[in-house]
Formats: sequence, C-alpha cells, structure tokens
Amino acid sequence: MPDPVVHQRTIDSLPEEIFDVLVVGAGPSGSTTALHLATKGHRVLLLDREQFPREKICGDGLLTDSINCLQRAGLMDSVRRLGHEVNALSMFSPSLVELRLKGDFMTLRRRALDALITQKAVTTGAVFCHGNVADLTVEADGSVTAYLSSSHRTLRARVGIIATGVRLNLLKKHNMIQQPKSSAVAMRCYVRSTYELNRMVVAFDRSIIPGYAWIFPMGNQEYNLGCGYSCRLKKKRTPGLKDVFRVFTEQFPLARDLMSKAKAVSPLRGATLRWGLKGTSPHGPGNLLATGETIATTFQMTGEGIGKAMESGELVAEVVHDAFESGDFSLLAQYPARLKADLEPRYLSYKIAEKWLSKPWLNDFVARRVNKSKFLKNSLAGILTETIDPRTVYSVRGILKSFFS
Ligand SMILES: Cc1cc2nc3c(=O)[nH]c(=O)nc-3n(C[C@H](O)[C@H](O)[C@H](O)COP(=O)(O)OP(=O)(O)OC[C@H]3O[C@@H](n4cnc5c(N)ncnc54)[C@H](O)[C@@H]3O)c2cc1C
Repeated sequence: MPDPVVHQRTIDSLPEEIFDVLVVGAGPSGSTTALHLATKGHRVLLLDREQFPREKICGDGLLTDSINCLQRAGLMDSVRRLGHEVNALSMFSPSLVELRLKGDFMTLRRRALDALITQKAVTTGAVFCHGNVADLTVEADGSVTAYLSSSHRTLRARVGIIATGVRLNLLKKHNMIQQPKSSAVAMRCYVRSTYELNRMVVAFDRSIIPGYAWIFPMGNQEYNLGCGYSCRLKKKRTPGLKDVFRVFTEQFPLARDLMSKAKAVSPLRGATLRWGLKGTSPHGPGNLLATGETIATTFQMTGEGIGKAMESGELVAEVVHDAFESGDFSLLAQYPARLKADLEPRYLSYKIAEKWLSKPWLNDFVARRVNKSKFLKNSLAGILTETIDPRTVYSVRGILKSFFS
C-alpha cells in the first residue's frame, strides 16, 4: 500500500503572519492538537523537523484509546483501509502461562498513521511545514516566537505548543522539565514470515522481565517484533536490549517459530520512552504549553502511548480554544489541573500493575488465577479498553474475589 500523501510546505513559502497557534512536532499529539484547533477555526501552524511521511520507531499497535481518538478525528475509515485488524491478544507470563483475550485492535505503521493524522489537520485548515525549531522565546505579551535552524525566518503565534516526543531541548530551555531521564528503552524490527499468527502477543518471558516483548501482526505476512524494559526496574545483571531480543527470538516458542520461517528482517532499531505523566510542567511561561510524550503521557510498563498522546492533544486543544473564545489567556494555566483530573488516576493504577507484573512469581500467580476466574478475565479485558481500573486485577482484593467468581 503506498504511503498517504502529506502536503508539507517549506518555511520560505509561508506568508508573513502571526498565527493563533504554533505546534512544534507532528506526531500523534501535535497533529491531533493541530487538527482539533483547526476544526474550531483557529489559524494553526504545525512544524516538524522531518520530511513526512517519516518512520517512527514503534510497535504500531493501536488499542482502544487510540482507536477512540482516531474515531473522533474522523480517521477510522482510512485507518481500517491501510491498517490490519486483530481481534485477539495473548499475554504470556514468565512461566509461559497464556492468557487469551478478545478485543478490537489494529496495527498500522507509524509512517502511515502519522501521515494520515497530519494530512487530516492540513485538509481541516492547518498549515504544515518542514522545519526544525531550534529555539522558542516567550514575548512580554505571552506570545511565542520560533527560531528555525535551517532558515532565517522567525515564526510568531499567540500560543505555542511543544509536542516533540522524547526530544526535550525546548522544554529544558523554559524550565518545564524536572525529570529528564528516560523511563524506558525499546527496540523493534519488521519481519516477513510465512508462519501464521493472527493475534497480538505480549510476553513477560523470564529472560525479558523487567520488561516485555511483543509480536504484532501487520498483515501481508509482516510482523512487528520488539522488546523493551523500564530503566528504573533494570538491574545491573539485566542484559542489553539486543541480547534480550536475541534470547526472545531464539527461546520464546512463538517468536522462534516465526523467525524460523522469516524471509526478510529489517534492522533492529531502538528508541527511548517517557512515561508515567510525571516530571514536567505542562504549562510554561506565557502562553507556552506542552503535550504528548514530551510530558510523559505514555503508560508505564505497556509502553502504550499513541492513544494517550492523542488524548492529551485533544485536551490541550480544548483549553486553548476556551482561552481564545474568552480572550482570557490566563485560562491556559488550567491545563495542568485538567490533565491531572482527566488522566492521572489511570497512571497511578498502571504503576501498581507495573510492580505486580515485574515480579515473575506474582506475574505467574496472577496469570494462573485469571485463567481460573471469569471475573478476573473480564476485568483484564476491561483494562485494555480502559473501562476497568487495573487495581481490580492487581490487588489482594481482586485476587481474593477470583476464588469465588
Ligand atoms: C519501540 C517502541 C514501541 C512502541 N510501541 C507502541 C505501540 O505499539 N503502541 C502505542 O500506543 N505506543 C507505542 N510506543 C509509544 C509511542 O511511540 C509514543 O507514545 C508516541 O509516539 C508519542 O507521540 P508524540 O506525538 O507525543 O511524540 P512523537 O510521536 O515522538 O512525535 C514527536 C514529533 O516531534 C518532531 N520534533 C521533535 N523535535 C522537533 C523540533 N525541535 N522541531 C520540529 N519538530 C520536532 C519529531 O520529528 C516527531 O515527528 C512505542 C514506543 C517505542 C519506542
């Protein structure tokens, strides 16, 4: 399937004007922000340092929160056309106890997904340009000026939004970051294999804990394989990620079978993650805000971040729209509290789940209990759709209840 076309302009082709909103970074968070603000009639300039469509190292898995955001963005028809539907997920505990869950999941290469969202923002009215923002300054009236590394042009907007993923230089400059360390590292590659696997596989294999590995079918006999672990939980003895990946593909039965029939393998590429919604100030000086993985919106342990990046983009767009509607830019200061109220409780629960899953014996114990209890199995499926709090499963009360239901 050819890549979606994206209309990305050069900076020099831009008219001299002050935009309402400047969004730096066109990943899922920045392009969702631009799309929702442009839909509401604001003049939005979206900038990315890369020429789109571009690769992004990712597992390419879309769970319920991503799918809901894509639905609200009016993009699900295109995503279904280009992506691959998967209706089941298997989780393997360290002793290879398998939990099979049904669900509506999708996979789509980020090269295509990010191009789709960005192009939708463009057709809705946002201007999308190629440019690396080297610096942002906040003017006395709160507005924001961007300096580009490849052009002498400066760009000005009433509101600036940083959505640069794990690149933190703009946040650092404005003292918006307290915890710059990466939360996790992960690697992935694409494999073409005649082995048939039609479910998403997540493995907490003994050789990988405190992380996990995955196999996500992409359609047309293509698979995204990868592994990652938390930097905090990593011990001195934990092997390097490349070794973890090698052990996974040599020893984990499904990965070994898939690789034994693999025809082509892309290079293994790695990236860092920022998770847990902690360690940043989402509201900087003046009218400067930040969204997406740059403020650590990715979920702990699972590394699932596309949906949460998009949700935070929707939220920042709402707050910015309200400020324009009322003409009161002090309303932007409500953004951190809105993020806290809407998203923070879910991260706290994931933190607890992370602790349980990273202890092999506890992970095995829970897996065995889930296979014996309808209550726990339904709850686990509910965690994936975010209708159930992870503490329903990962708590003493949940485990006790599983003996009776
Ligand atoms: C190996 C791996 C596997 C993953 N698997 C999954 C998965 O299966 N499902 C899932 O939901 N999540 C997954 N994630 C997490 C997911 O990739 C991120 O949460 C998500 O990309 C965050 O989106 P974002 O828009 O905040 O940032 P990004 O997607 O990183 O986008 C940031 C954009 O900003 C641009 N940029 C940066 N600096 C500048 C600058 N100075 N000027 C202009 N542009 C700039 C970049 O070019 C980039 O396009 C995975 C992550 C990794 C590393």
